[in-house]
Amino acid sequence: MGESSHERDPVDNRQFSRYISDVARLFDIERTVRTYCLHLGEEHADELRELLVSVDRTLCRVLPPELSRRVDREGSTLERGPDGRLVVRRHPALQAALDELCRLGLFRVFAAEEHGGFALPLAIYYLAVQLVSYHDTSLALFFLVHGNAMYGIGRYGTPAQQARYLPRLAAGELIASVAFTEPTAGSDAGAIRTRARRDGDGWVLEGDKLWITNGGDADLLITTARTGPAERGIEGVSAFILEREADGVEVTGLEDKTGLAGSPTAALSYPGIRVPGDRLLGELDRGGRVMFAGVGMTRVNIGAQALGIAKRAFDAAAAFAGERRQGGCAIIEHDAVRQRLADMALTISAMEHLICRDSALEHRGEWHVREMSEAKYYCSEALQELTLRAINVHGGYGCSRDHVVERCRREAVALPLYGGTSEIQWYIIARELLERGKADYRARDDALCAELEAREARSDLARRVSAVKDQLWRLVERVAAMEDQAPFLRHLTELSTALACAQVLLWQASAPDADALERELAAVAVDRLEDRAAISVGRIGRGLDRRTLKALVRERLEG
Ligand SMILES: Cc1cc2nc3c(=O)[nH]c(=O)nc-3n(C[C@H](O)[C@H](O)[C@H](O)COP(=O)(O)OP(=O)(O)OC[C@H]3O[C@@H](n4cnc5c(N)ncnc54)[C@H](O)[C@@H]3O)c2cc1C
Repeated sequence: MGESSHERDPVDNRQFSRYISDVARLFDIERTVRTYCLHLGEEHADELRELLVSVDRTLCRVLPPELSRRVDREGSTLERGPDGRLVVRRHPALQAALDELCRLGLFRVFAAEEHGGFALPLAIYYLAVQLVSYHDTSLALFFLVHGNAMYGIGRYGTPAQQARYLPRLAAGELIASVAFTEPTAGSDAGAIRTRARRDGDGWVLEGDKLWITNGGDADLLITTARTGPAERGIEGVSAFILEREADGVEVTGLEDKTGLAGSPTAALSYPGIRVPGDRLLGELDRGGRVMFAGVGMTRVNIGAQALGIAKRAFDAAAAFAGERRQGGCAIIEHDAVRQRLADMALTISAMEHLICRDSALEHRGEWHVREMSEAKYYCSEALQELTLRAINVHGGYGCSRDHVVERCRREAVALPLYGGTSEIQWYIIARELLERGKADYRARDDALCAELEAREARSDLARRVSAVKDQLWRLVERVAAMEDQAPFLRHLTELSTALACAQVLLWQASAPDADALERELAAVAVDRLEDRAAISVGRIGRGLDRRTLKALVRERLEG
């Protein structure tokens, strides 16, 4: 990831070889369940296992790799219907897979029981999404937005809205989408131009939305429109529920994307559509809250989607390395290749634990904006390097469409973009540290490090993590005192995220049944954390010097 991707210490190769021969598919379902249990306890572990096993079996049957590859080539399509209007058609193979997953109850996982849901922890949804993503990332993207919309209605909908929509969304009778992005409003969600004006007891919406996943064939859209003056930015934006067909939402285009071809990404237009007053979702002018609540949950889900791609790329690279022979042996026998694979294993472990850690916080009802962004940021950025490395292991074959790693690389590209770009995550994480949850986060970091020290009393790893944690908080204080904080936010974010990775891997390594490789991965993560801390300390320190220099230059010029 960025500067932290410099040469790294290899994970011990002998242990890695043993590990890789232990399990055919390295990150198998039992390991996923174990990771879940480490963070969320045994409750619901059986439901998780059962769901993962049935999702896996179902997708192996209805969407085998060769069919998923065909979907990647053919994608979804845009056609003209009999009435001349544009219609989006999801690839039939993905539609069939969705129908099967619906039958398994995947749409119901976190919905409340009174809405026909199973009321299970979000972690179970995330881990199911990562498995779907392992099989087909476009299919996983469906669950990101459908889940986002369900979550938004579940949190902000009136009882009547919940009763009207949630049971049908949970049953898969309706599919949903979230339509926020506009030509002028991407990262700057408050810059939307779509307007909603009052019309009797209802609203009339006029404007355009772009890049809307599921947008062309969703039955239901959660959307945003300006209801207050433009100067109020996001504070003058409200959220609405649209019924696409009945309300007259028009499809105006379909994106031809890099990867994720099976997921239809539509451009939509609201040509003065009229909706009843009871479609306002949440409070008037407070649509930003609805949007950010769903986006927060989606960020962790994007982490889960990244995890699925990462495991697929890893499995392909490990299998290839076992078969391909060069220099008189399988290439997996070469240290350099094993180092690549070991690096990937570490990244994947950190991803999985970050997602489960987040879900555990969510489950306990603890505020966790920083952690949600860290999961999204780490998983989507680390995936970029991981998919490139999986291609490296394949040599020239990695560039061929005949090998799945080529596709993994294309799919990876979009993940740091949607759900808030990585640059926006720099701001969010650093702002959380500097201002919003400062005391709470500090207390949480202190408590976690103290617990790790207690568990790891006989090793120095936890003490080293604690030392960097103290360093992070000293840097936070230092940046907080600066007038111009912007250049340093990224460094706080990188350090905070590396700290989280080391903490979760050490948490895993200190479990009673941890294996040698898990301890090795934690040790490498701690080494990297210290490297990262050195970079952050250097940058923030040097940044100060630059500021002094700038002031001196200005003085000289003015003088
Ligand atoms: C495959 C895919 C699916 C999507 N699905 C949906 C969907 O279902 N619903 C939906 O509403 N949207 C969706 N989007 C849109 C997505 O959320 C936006 O692309 C994203 O928010 C970024 O907005 P933008 O593309 O306009 O980029 P911009 O905001 O224009 O950003 C361009 C660059 O400038 C940087 N930047 C912008 N502002 C700042 C700032 N203040 N500080 C620092 N850097 C900044 C960004 O980080 C980025 O590097 C999807 C996008 C993709 C690619």
